[in-house]
Amino acid sequence: MSAPVDAFVGLGSNLDDPARQVRAAFAELDTIDATRLVAASPLYRSAPVGPADQPEYVNAVAWLHTGLEPDPLLDALQSIETRHGRVRGQHWGPRTLDLDLLLYADRRIDTRRLVVPHPQMHQRAFVLVPLHDIAPDTFLPGLGPLETWMNRVDRAGLRADPPAGRD
Ligand code: ATP
Ligand code: CA
Ligand code: CA
Repeated sequence: MSAPVDAFVGLGSNLDDPARQVRAAFAELDTIDATRLVAASPLYRSAPVGPADQPEYVNAVAWLHTGLEPDPLLDALQSIETRHGRVRGQHWGPRTLDLDLLLYADRRIDTRRLVVPHPQMHQRAFVLVPLHDIAPDTFLPGLGPLETWMNRVDRAGLRADPPAGRD
């Protein structure tokens, strides 16, 4: 086991009470072997990526400290997805839970099953905005400061859940 590193996970759900799925997933991330949940972002609602004939998503980001290497960490994320009843169907189709490994320490990884930083993260407001909420000084290896991408991204279609100003 190596010294713990920072890792960030993107959470998404658009089936079967998505906000409940995401909140439960935060707690499950904290139970992964050699891994601790450092911070959980606020929840956001966003329009679906890809096929538009599906419900809107609830998205969030988790900050982890983990002693696991990237591959076993992805195994753990996929087993949480499976426990949430995720069925692999249409690409970008509806799902009870999606857990993407966004960042792992300052590493760049490009293998058959794992690409880090997650390839689309710098173009997705539903990833950048919650990541910025919990870790504004983050650097995206190969891509530059999070702040730069925050200034470029289109936030139309992203809203806080619950909306600001309500308790
Ligand atoms: P997107 O990756 O565009 O958000 P998606 O989340 O719907 O799409 P999935 O069907 O969940 O895609 O995953 C397809 C495959 O992507 C997984 O089987 C996994 O091996 C691979 N993959 C590559 N890089 C990553 C990563 N950083 N995090 C999670 N899965 C990854
Ligand atoms: Ca995804
Ligand atoms: Ca995924």
